[in-house]
Amino acid sequence: MRKRITVVLTVAIAFLLALHSPRRAECAGKPNVLTTHTVLKSITETIGKDHVSVSCLSTGKEDPHAISAKPSYMVSARKADLFIKMGMELEIGYEQLIVDGARNYKIRYGQPGYLDVSLDVLRREVPTTRIDRSLGDVHPLGNPHYWMDPYNARIMAHTIANKLAELDPQNTAYYTANSADFVRRVDEAMFGKSLVEQLGGDKLWSLDLSGKLDSYLIEKGLNGNTGGWYAQLKPLGGTEVITYHRSWVYFTDRFNLKIASELEPKPGIPPSPSHLLGVVQTASQRKVKVILMEPFYDPRAAEFVALKTGAKVVEIANAVNGWPGVTDYFSLIDNAVGKIRQAILGAA
Ligand SMILES: [Zn+2]
Repeated sequence: MRKRITVVLTVAIAFLLALHSPRRAECAGKPNVLTTHTVLKSITETIGKDHVSVSCLSTGKEDPHAISAKPSYMVSARKADLFIKMGMELEIGYEQLIVDGARNYKIRYGQPGYLDVSLDVLRREVPTTRIDRSLGDVHPLGNPHYWMDPYNARIMAHTIANKLAELDPQNTAYYTANSADFVRRVDEAMFGKSLVEQLGGDKLWSLDLSGKLDSYLIEKGLNGNTGGWYAQLKPLGGTEVITYHRSWVYFTDRFNLKIASELEPKPGIPPSPSHLLGVVQTASQRKVKVILMEPFYDPRAAEFVALKTGAKVVEIANAVNGWPGVTDYFSLIDNAVGKIRQAILGAA
């Protein structure tokens, strides 16, 4: 009798342990993903939906270069199956501390659970000469703020979907379909639904990247069919703006805006009085109407230039959750496009 009870108990304990073992979570196909940036979290959730569990090291309200490595982040990193970062040294100040502190072999550099999303994106400002600290916080791999170009959002979605499929192969078709859906929504948000239906997203981007989209649309008599962000910012082409940090280069290049000057004398170096006097001179000469800055920067430098020149200070988040209503990639770009239009044209 006692032997039988022991057997029953052993089976029951084995069953309970099986229920709670981490292996069961893997079998259930739910990778635990840790991202550094809220844009990465948002895109990963859009692709993985209820098949992944995603957490993030930042809230979207901080300077993405200056996240402090809290002990709670190491706990999140310890549990992660996949670590996703922007790369190009955006996370250089804290990444190693968190990954080392987590002691999680799976998410170390070179392991399947480590993903640097920047590897395939279109990069800007990659230095062609030797750089040193005298140039400020210049990144040797190029400007890391690439997610503000919707073309790069497409590439980011593909990269993340491929990695999720690698870690969770049984849901490959699901991740691929969700990624394709995200890309289609980016294309429609960028060029308008009608143009995407007529020409397809790939062709539109290829024309845009080669600088031939405008002439092609005119030649085919389709220039009245444009929509989306492209059509909204088209009338502003060539307009000069001032930015706080070199974090808007991808956005301004994509939408044909020009950066006349920055409030930071060099990337990551706070504005100095002498530099600001130069910015005031440039803004006055070129009649710059708008100063773009992320909400986490001290507003005083921008307010000083605005006061001296009559330009408007426009606070725009460049992270998901960085501003009320900015809840995903689409509202992030919508918000930026709408605010820039409003500031320059006086229309939303
Ligand atoms: Zn930066």
